[in-house]
Amino acid sequence: MFIYKFGGASLKDSEGIKTVGKIIKRNAKEGLVIVISAMGKTTNALEIVHKYYLSGDKNNCKAHIETIKMYHLNLIGEIFSEKNNICRKINNYFLEIEEITNKEPSLNPDFEYDKIVSYGELISSTIISEYLKSIDVENEWVDIREYLITDDFFREANINFALSEKLICGKFKSNKIFVTQGFIGGTITKLTTTLGREGSDYTAALLGYFLNAESVTIWKDVPGILTADPKIMNNYTQIKKLSYEEAIELAYYGAQVIHPRTIKPLQNKNIPLYVKPFYNEEETGTEISCCQNQNKLPPIFIHKFNQCIINITSKDFSFIVEENIKYIFTLLCKHKLKTNLLQQSAISISLCVDYDERKVYSFTKELENSFTIKIETNLTLLTIRHYTLKVLAEQVNSNNVILEDINRYVAKLVIKN
Ligand code: ASP
Ligand code: MG
Repeated sequence: MFIYKFGGASLKDSEGIKTVGKIIKRNAKEGLVIVISAMGKTTNALEIVHKYYLSGDKNNCKAHIETIKMYHLNLIGEIFSEKNNICRKINNYFLEIEEITNKEPSLNPDFEYDKIVSYGELISSTIISEYLKSIDVENEWVDIREYLITDDFFREANINFALSEKLICGKFKSNKIFVTQGFIGGTITKLTTTLGREGSDYTAALLGYFLNAESVTIWKDVPGILTADPKIMNNYTQIKKLSYEEAIELAYYGAQVIHPRTIKPLQNKNIPLYVKPFYNEEETGTEISCCQNQNKLPPIFIHKFNQCIINITSKDFSFIVEENIKYIFTLLCKHKLKTNLLQQSAISISLCVDYDERKVYSFTKELENSFTIKIETNLTLLTIRHYTLKVLAEQVNSNNVILEDINRYVAKLVIKN
């Protein structure tokens, strides 16, 4: 089995979709599962629909649904010569979205979110499956919600590994080409869930894991993994090979190229991951595998935006030791806040976390009785792996660094924007 994943940027216009079609046609193997994300910025657009739906703004909700519909219908117009069948299917999805948003929402916004936002992948995978058929690539469209089973932690659902393994191995056993959705799953009671933003890479890795795939390939609109984000820095090179350890660290600290949860399932079964440019399949891209990086890697810069520092100081001068730390971390876990850096002193602790206003608010609310809380937002976490003293000095001198954590290999700088 082979797994291919195509992201929204590769599918954002007719040219992209045709290129994807060519790649699949040329590489069509027996036993290929193709994982598809929502096209272009559709997920963002559906998030706005969700927002208007919850706020009761029916007009804006309708207008945004219409814009998303037109975007997809226009794309269809450009890539299909025979449109009736695909237009009927896509119109049906939009009827379903309208039906959902015409009802009163339940009291669980995250449940409503997953119901609405999941249409991005349902629609895109249907278009790709039909498009492939139109260019003579026979394939079966699979509704992954029936096989990738999760709990009901809506918006960031957790995989039920035992059940998913059984169902996925049962479904994808023949040597066909399958087209399915990234990012979404379903509960045992058949409710729709999502796995967290940008989660399609994770779906691809999970399918690779369950099916013991020979490899997983993520086709992207970048040449592979680079030593810095070209949008931020001018000097960068491409990394040809990376170990799983190195890749998981890069992804965790915000390298946008792969989703952080992607690496673990692949490492656990020693399945190589290829990150390749979809616009030029001849290019080698980056291979992530159990290889050890022979030569010392060059400095790698990872910018993680939208960070905040939460400073927690005990009110009664009690030390931040075992009991207090346990309490703070239990709450971090409860509110699903990910710490990117922490620094401790006798009576206080500073945590650098992704700034999700809702989560940060509910977390700090619970601490307020015993601790004084200060929050600083508008920060960027710059991680430099394999830094040299020269590059570190350059960054420290040219930025307003308010917190740092430097060990022998990795420097982390929290920068005020
Ligand atoms: N479409 C989803 C998102 O944009 C999932 C993904 O692209 O991986 O977050
Ligand atoms: Mg996407």
